[in-house]
Amino acid sequence: MELITILNRCHHFRGFVYHHARFSPDHTSIEISVRPRAGSSAICSRCHQPAPGYDQLPERRFEFIPFWGFLVFLLYAMRRVNCRRCAAVVVEEVPWADGKRTLTKAYMLFLARWARRLSWKETAEAFRTSWDKVFDAVEHVVTWGLEHRKLGQIDAIGVDEIQYAKGHKYLTLVYQIDLGVTRLLWVGKERTVESFQGFFTAMGQEVVSRICFVCSDMWEPYLKLIREKCSEALHVLDRFHIVAKMNKALDEIRADEQRRMRLEGRDPVLHQSRWLLLRRSENLKLEQHFRLRDLLRYNLKTVRAYLLKEAFQQLWNYDSAVWAGKFLDEWCRQTMRSRIDPMKKIARSLRQHRELILNYFRAHKMLSSGVVEGLNNKAKVTMRKSYGFRTYRVLELALYHSLGKLPEPELTHDFF
Ligand SMILES: [Zn+2]
Repeated sequence: MELITILNRCHHFRGFVYHHARFSPDHTSIEISVRPRAGSSAICSRCHQPAPGYDQLPERRFEFIPFWGFLVFLLYAMRRVNCRRCAAVVVEEVPWADGKRTLTKAYMLFLARWARRLSWKETAEAFRTSWDKVFDAVEHVVTWGLEHRKLGQIDAIGVDEIQYAKGHKYLTLVYQIDLGVTRLLWVGKERTVESFQGFFTAMGQEVVSRICFVCSDMWEPYLKLIREKCSEALHVLDRFHIVAKMNKALDEIRADEQRRMRLEGRDPVLHQSRWLLLRRSENLKLEQHFRLRDLLRYNLKTVRAYLLKEAFQQLWNYDSAVWAGKFLDEWCRQTMRSRIDPMKKIARSLRQHRELILNYFRAHKMLSSGVVEGLNNKAKVTMRKSYGFRTYRVLELALYHSLGKLPEPELTHDFF
C-alpha cells in the first residue's frame, strides 16, 4: 500500500491530487507534493467562489500529522486568482489550511486535542514541534469553536474572578451553571466594570435578557453591572465566598493574637491551631476535637471569632428567606458588639448585601454555588499547568479550550 493511497483515504480534497511522496534529503521527514486537479478552478479566499487563475506563488510547506517517527509535509504552490467579484488579485483558498498558518487543519486539531490532556510544553515535546505551533493550533481550534458555538437559552450564570499573576492581576470568568449544562462562557481581563461589560456585549441582548439567575461574589463592579443588565434576574450572593471571607478574617485574628501573645510571653495556646479553627468542626478527627475543646476554654478573641463563624453556618439550614433574615440580623447584631474588628467588618458587609444573601433562599437553594466553585477550581488547575508563557492571551485560550466545551472543526477522518 502506498502512502498516497492512505492519504487519499483519510485526507482527500476535491480539486486537488497527491502527486508524489518522497523522503527529504536528510531522511527525517516525508514530503508529499500536491497539485490542483486538471480542469478544477481555484477558489477566491475572500469571497469563497471559483475565480479565473492569475499566477502561482512559490511552493509552500504545510505541516501534517507526523507518521511513524517522520515529520510529514504537504508541498503546494498556491495559485492566485483574478477575482472579478472582489475586483482584486487574491490568493486561493485551500481546504487543508487556513491561509495564515503553516500547520494543516488536521494537525492543528490533533495537537489541540493533546494540548487539552498535556501541558502545551509537553505536547510540543511529544510531537517534536515548537511551543508556538501548539499555541497556533489551540488558537485556531478555540477561535473556530467560539465562532461556531451555540449559546441557546442560558438560565443561570456564575461570575467569579481568579488571580493569574502577582500584583492584583485578575481574570473575570463567567460560567453557565444550568442544571445539566455547565461551561465557561466568557473570560475577561481585569475585574472592572469596563471589562465585565465585555461579557454582556459578547452574549448579546437577547441571551442576556433571558438569564433568570446570577450568582456572584460581593465585588462591587460585578454587583453594579448585574443590577443594570440583569435587572429581571434573581441575583444570589455566592455562599462559598461569604464563608471564605469569614475564614480569612478568622485567620487574620488568630495570626494577630498569636503574635501578640508571643510578645507578651504568654502560653502559646494558639500554636498549630490554624486548621482546627478553619475546618468545619464535623470534619475534625477525634484527637483534633479534644484539642479544639481545650482551646475553646480560653477567653481569646480568636475563640470568640471562631464561635461566631460556627454559629453563622446555621444560616444555610433555613428554608424560608424570612427566618433566614431574622437569623442574619441577630448574628450581625451580636457580631457588631463583639469588639473584633475583622468580624465587625464582615457583619457590616453582610448587612449591606442582606437582600442578595437572602435571594439564596428565595431561589430555593437551587443555585448551588458549589458548581461555580468546582468550575473555578478546574480553572485554577488549568492555569497552574505549565503553558510556557503566562500571558493573558495564553490563559484565555487555555481556559476556553479546557472549560468552554466548544465545538471542534470537523474533519472527514478521525486521526485520534
Ligand atoms: Zn473573490
